[in-house]
Amino acid sequence: MPIASVNPANGRTLKTYEPHSEADIEHRLALCAAEFPRWHSRPFADRARILLEAAAALESRKDEWGRLMTLEMGKPINAGIAEAEKCAWVCRYYAENGERFLADETVTTDASSSWVRYEPLGAVLAVMPWNFPFWQVFRFAAPALMAGNVGLLKHASNVPGCALAIEEIFHVAGAPEGAFRALLIGSDRVASVIHDPRIAAVTLTGSESAGVSVGREAGGQIKKTVLELGGSDPFIVLPSADLEAAAMTAVKARTINNGQSCIAAKRFIVHRDVADAFEKRFVERMAALKVGDPGDPSVDIGPLATPAIRDEVDGQVQRSVAAGARVLLGGRRLDGPGNFYAPTVLVDVPPGSPADAEEIFGPVASLFRVSSLDEAIAVANRSRYGLGSSAWTRDAGERDRLVREIAAGSVFLNGMVKSDPRLPFGGIKKSGYGRELSWQGIREFVNVKTVWEA
Ligand code: NAP
Repeated sequence: MPIASVNPANGRTLKTYEPHSEADIEHRLALCAAEFPRWHSRPFADRARILLEAAAALESRKDEWGRLMTLEMGKPINAGIAEAEKCAWVCRYYAENGERFLADETVTTDASSSWVRYEPLGAVLAVMPWNFPFWQVFRFAAPALMAGNVGLLKHASNVPGCALAIEEIFHVAGAPEGAFRALLIGSDRVASVIHDPRIAAVTLTGSESAGVSVGREAGGQIKKTVLELGGSDPFIVLPSADLEAAAMTAVKARTINNGQSCIAAKRFIVHRDVADAFEKRFVERMAALKVGDPGDPSVDIGPLATPAIRDEVDGQVQRSVAAGARVLLGGRRLDGPGNFYAPTVLVDVPPGSPADAEEIFGPVASLFRVSSLDEAIAVANRSRYGLGSSAWTRDAGERDRLVREIAAGSVFLNGMVKSDPRLPFGGIKKSGYGRELSWQGIREFVNVKTVWEA
């Protein structure tokens, strides 16, 4: 079956691509395997130069890349352009810091000298999602390539144009053919690539079910994995919070990328003393969002990426309502072509209903009222996920407890969860394991080699 780019704003097919044949896959695997020892033996400065060139290609054509993302998966155009710029940032960050992060570390022992060396593993398979179709790939590729690994990308099937554009960016930057290649294949062919002895490790960003499958296949081959999976981040608002700032940020945190972000705030847990005031501000701002053509720079929310995702979101909302949730805003598909869904606010969400227990990948917010900090933390932690979290308070004692007790990969205080090349990113529980970004990220796909000399 051909792989197709379909514009989610109108349902029109933009382009179809023939999936790679077995021979194509073999060719790309062989290229990468042959390149690895050469790429690894090049000095860091050489690899850094190529990453800097990639950064330049991202920036100089950022409007083109932004438009491509908007067309294939529906994100607002300015967000696509900003994504290309952020990818340039992560390339520069690792070009400038990668060598230092992987420098030999001397350790004093009974040896005359002993030290730790970080060496690349080989070809890393990256299975990536469509929601940040450039960023997710570059946040893997920049550290992996800088460390001396080579990369094979299996991108989500609805963004083949982005996959090929990223391949082109590395090509234009001067990377050798086998340093980074895209595989246009469906998810049914991932297992056989993982099993190939030329693949050393696998990273997946995607859903929990894909994580289970990739983790199982790689585990069976004793291959290292990093899994960046789903989230249902809490956004806690306590009485001392700046309510205006909290409500404004809450809307952005829920609706960024049309509500399709792993680290979007999804469950808003608000203390009773300020719940009415917060709810009023939040609903007003959600209602004011402009939904429409993501190519129009004045639009806040574009379509969901595929009809199946919109159906899934609507099903989760309807099942939550059937379980007792009340709709304060939206709660329905929008008429006309494209996968548009109304910005939605649910209250009285019963524990265990989809809006409480599942990840909703669309502009749907669930509001919960709590009576104490203890209850806020308990509601936040009852999720099966543990990716990010945001908490709003001006009380130092509350802040310390939140940092200590929230079960998540990050706690953002009085601000929205976001990724930053300088800070590690990742989750716990069903949100996955391993870290990307910062020095922790570049050390995921390396052999930590101990050297000891008598
Ligand atoms: P997805 O359906 O899991 O797809 C992600 C990638 O995995 C795609 O390339 C997909 O290929 C592939 N895939 C799916 N099932 C597979 C399987 N059984 N075996 C091997 N590969 C498989 O997820 P998505 O809908 O694209 O992305 C949304 C999910 O990603 C959300 O849950 C979101 O929270 C999560 N996410 C997490 C992070 C993070 O950093 N933690 C960041 C972004 C997104 P096909 O497209 O060909 O099916």
